[in-house]
Amino acid sequence: MQFDLAFMEPNPLVEVHFRLLKAHVRTHGPLGRWITFDPITQMVHAVLDGRTREDISKRAFRKLCGRFTSWDDLRHVSPDAIAYLIQPVTFADNKAAQISAALHRIHYLRGALSLDFLAGYSVEAARAWLEALPGVGPKVSAAVVNFSTLGMPALVVDSHYQRIAKRLGVVASKASDRAVDRSLARLVPGWMTTDDLQHNYFLVKRHGQTVCHHSPNCRVCVLKDLCLFGRRRCDGF
Ligand code: SF4
Repeated sequence: MQFDLAFMEPNPLVEVHFRLLKAHVRTHGPLGRWITFDPITQMVHAVLDGRTREDISKRAFRKLCGRFTSWDDLRHVSPDAIAYLIQPVTFADNKAAQISAALHRIHYLRGALSLDFLAGYSVEAARAWLEALPGVGPKVSAAVVNFSTLGMPALVVDSHYQRIAKRLGVVASKASDRAVDRSLARLVPGWMTTDDLQHNYFLVKRHGQTVCHHSPNCRVCVLKDLCLFGRRRCDGF
């Protein structure tokens, strides 16, 4: 599936960004700033968040924060005990094992539980370092470098973003998570700041939650004229 370029500015990521931003501002007002965590906290948060409803992952995250005074305390807890605490997040057993293994690995490699040293790395190098950790894929690595106090300009692509990009035809429908991440990252223009990319993630995710979900409501979608999937669905093109 390809974009209908007659409707587009040259960069589909930018076109989608501004359309969703305009629609959001018209209805809800300007976007604000997020709470910023240190990188380890953001990593735990991002792992819990994967393919899980936001209210459920936030509850699990708050439970861990309330139960342990430091991530080093959590490092000494068995994966089974972590899994019990974070239920009912999706894949709780896997996520518990990944969080535990990642904390141990960071401590082993750095002698302390801190990722602040990544501030001296390029975005690509910081993400590559993180993706060598157990359970850290492209979405978690981008979330850690962008949303945390590291504040680097990385595009965060979650399952909503992947689904929408595939329906729009920006990436191939059978592309892997990593291929989608890399293809979309290449579309990010140099002028987009860390804040712009946080807003972009929020806007696309919210679009996926409210309009372009598994049974998309294409008739009300502000991207419909760009989207052959949506136009076929509504108008039979
Ligand atoms: S037109 Fe439909 S499929 Fe395309 S982006 Fe909008 S909601 Fe999703």
